[in-house]
Amino acid sequence: MKTEKRITLLMTLALLLLAPFVCAGEQNAAYFPDILGYKTLKCDLHMHTVFSDGNVWPTVRVDEAAREGLDLIVITDHIEYQPHRRDVPTNHHRPFEIAAPRAEKRNILLPLGAEITRDTPPGHFNALFLYDINLLDEPNFVDAIMAANDQGAFVTWNHPGWKGPELTRWFNVHHLIYNKKWLHGVEVCNGGSYYPEAHLWCLDKNLTMVGVSDIHEPSLLRRTTPESHRTMTLVFAQDRTLPAVREALFAGRTLVWYRNQLIGRKNYLDAMFRASVSVHLTNQISADTVRLSILNNAAVNIELERTGTQGPEKLTLPAQAAAFINIKIDQNQKHINLPYTALNFLFAPDEPLPVNLITPLPKTIKDPLSTDNRNINFFAGNRVHN
Ligand SMILES: [Zn+2]
Ligand SMILES: [Zn+2]
Repeated sequence: MKTEKRITLLMTLALLLLAPFVCAGEQNAAYFPDILGYKTLKCDLHMHTVFSDGNVWPTVRVDEAAREGLDLIVITDHIEYQPHRRDVPTNHHRPFEIAAPRAEKRNILLPLGAEITRDTPPGHFNALFLYDINLLDEPNFVDAIMAANDQGAFVTWNHPGWKGPELTRWFNVHHLIYNKKWLHGVEVCNGGSYYPEAHLWCLDKNLTMVGVSDIHEPSLLRRTTPESHRTMTLVFAQDRTLPAVREALFAGRTLVWYRNQLIGRKNYLDAMFRASVSVHLTNQISADTVRLSILNNAAVNIELERTGTQGPEKLTLPAQAAAFINIKIDQNQKHINLPYTALNFLFAPDEPLPVNLITPLPKTIKDPLSTDNRNINFFAGNRVHN
């Protein structure tokens, strides 16, 4: 078989294996695999409309979410800050009421939410999965947080590295609501910002990590790519329903997708890597060299750095594509195990995830591309018939 023909066939094989994800890409839905028996749902838990300081009508948020392949959005207009109120009346439920029929039509989950807005400290907090926002319209901050909790809301501390004295610090009021179990999550990423301190708080205090757009302007994103995507939370839920997402948020089953990085707890990062990456023995190049194809079905370009002795020092696994590498082997080897670090999978600030690229080495391999499907004696030193 001619080399070019073989390469074409390899590409065809890779495309076939990646077909479901390529199709998802055509719909502009960034794909992440389900993990640990849960559905992976793409959620943006924080955004604004003209009903507070945003510059779009509520239905536009739904259309943007549908275009970007999101499963769930929460419109979280400020309760206490409405710069458009001379033109748009104060009605905390209106953005939800306007967006809900569109969300149902476009199959976007839409819980009711709002942003409790104070200067720093304490700062801004979102209350998600509410039934009555008006009950949170309280002069006293702690009363507003309590009212949200009375409704069983999931409460997040928003953009804690935003400004003022609270920057990277907890004040008494934060300890108070945390100790009462009225605070459940922290925005580790908000729009273009990552707060490493917030990442550590979530680990130390067992709070849920979320990443949000906090978008105010129209989303101009036409195509979601690894380099250009909305900051969002991947939620690992039992099913694609509001109660399941709420349960998953309280249980802390999330990862944050931020600027081609996945940020979160080690077990979810590890599960996401394993579900996304698969290593396949493609063919034997020479007596002591094999070619591996490494498929990455997730919407993130995975940046690997070698920690072992074999394989390229740096290796990028492009999103929803295959990478090919050649590896030297010896006669006694039963499997290939290449230790790497996934530089853009962060389980703590500056702590990238250790991973292994593993595939067994059978005594004989079936050449998946040979026209006669002839078995090749793997260690006999036969050159692949090209
Ligand atoms: Zn805010
Ligand atoms: Zn906001």
